[in-house]
Amino acid sequence: MDSIFSPPLHRQRHQFVIDFVKRNKPKKVVDLGCSECSLLQKLKFHREIELLVGVDIDGANIKKKMHGLAPMSTDYLQPSYDQLRIELYQGSVTQEDARLRGFDLVTSIELIEHLTLADVKRFSEVVFGYMTPVAVIVSTPNSEFNPLFPRPAGFRHSDHKFEWTRAEFKSWALKVCLEYGYEVEFTGVGQAPPGQQERVGFCSQIGVFHWLGGRQECNMLFGDDAEDVFSYTLLYSINYPSLHDNNILQRVLVSEVLYWAEKMKRNWIEERTGERDDTYTLCPAEGEGEECLRASERHMEMEDKQTACGAEMKNPGEHQESELFWTNGEGQQESCKLRRCVSVPLAVLWSCCPKLSALSGSLSNLRHVLMDNPEVKLSQDGSAVLLNDQEQDLEEEEEDHDDLEDSGYAVCSHGAEPEEDWEKNV
Ligand code: SAM
Repeated sequence: MDSIFSPPLHRQRHQFVIDFVKRNKPKKVVDLGCSECSLLQKLKFHREIELLVGVDIDGANIKKKMHGLAPMSTDYLQPSYDQLRIELYQGSVTQEDARLRGFDLVTSIELIEHLTLADVKRFSEVVFGYMTPVAVIVSTPNSEFNPLFPRPAGFRHSDHKFEWTRAEFKSWALKVCLEYGYEVEFTGVGQAPPGQQERVGFCSQIGVFHWLGGRQECNMLFGDDAEDVFSYTLLYSINYPSLHDNNILQRVLVSEVLYWAEKMKRNWIEERTGERDDTYTLCPAEGEGEECLRASERHMEMEDKQTACGAEMKNPGEHQESELFWTNGEGQQESCKLRRCVSVPLAVLWSCCPKLSALSGSLSNLRHVLMDNPEVKLSQDGSAVLLNDQEQDLEEEEEDHDDLEDSGYAVCSHGAEPEEDWEKNV
């Protein structure tokens, strides 16, 4: 049936819902008779939706593709402020479930024709009388279109219990409106050939219902004394990563700070040694301009004359370790060899990286987040991020390498496993 339409009819139905979502921006959406979740798959990209729910009587159908609704790696790498929770339930639209009340949009795409007429009555009571969403989109086959199909007469699908004419659909819809306080517009998808549209109508007829009371009054319907019924079985639920989640916000802030501090450090070292390595040059496409890096270099040069890591920072090239003494609680003097550090002022990071300032809101918020994080070393007064000097790290790696050679152990090439001497073992 879909093949005679372009785009295919099922896609046109889903597009109809998506266009409605774009215009009306519902936050809570439930798709009844969601089958293999193909509409939900598309709706999850519309991040004005905060709660997206699917219900189907056939749990096996839901399970086939439900994992495709999981967040993608980019959702974790670049979390947004939007919140999204997806829930899938096995259950019948003829039964009430308190978790489905108070939605902004209920969709029922090619579902009602699979119900007996007694169950359609129950569907009306549950959806319009109990769930009372702000809007409902119902699509169902228009039987007047059927003679245009090149196939024998009969229903379009063996499981259909009825297929309504436009007048039958209208009569049911207007009755629902009268009983439950909705208004309805009639439309459809799947155009008839030129000249026949008025006579046969759309292939899939659609009713778009709007509750006359509005959202606020609708919420008032759900008093605390209403007895909560939970008749559906939860099959799947997932929360998308969001910057509203404090842990995620912290993780993003820390990785941004480390990324930019490292870039600034390298730039600064290269400036001073005159060895600019192009692999570390900022790519303008990354958003934060060279301008800012140059500004940060000025600050870091100034830092150079101050103290970092509690010890004076040396110019790159002057390899020296500093020794710091302090007194512990018992009055004993302890010593610690300090690594040479590069100090990147937090204020510079904050003003150079718009993402950091947008996410943290203020410099003190940023400092607060970083203070609790073991991945970031802050200066004693919390005003700068301290990074180990790269050259020193390399030097130490070389020393470790030498130590291994001196110890008589074979040194493996990077990533290779030490070879076992099988001959010796036999
Ligand atoms: N809405 C889907 C879409 O647009 O891709 C297609 C729906 S499919 C034609 C009809 C679905 O309704 C089936 O998955 C079926 O299991 C489901 N269904 C039938 N009776 C139901 C009931 N009483 N409650 C919930 N779902 C039901």
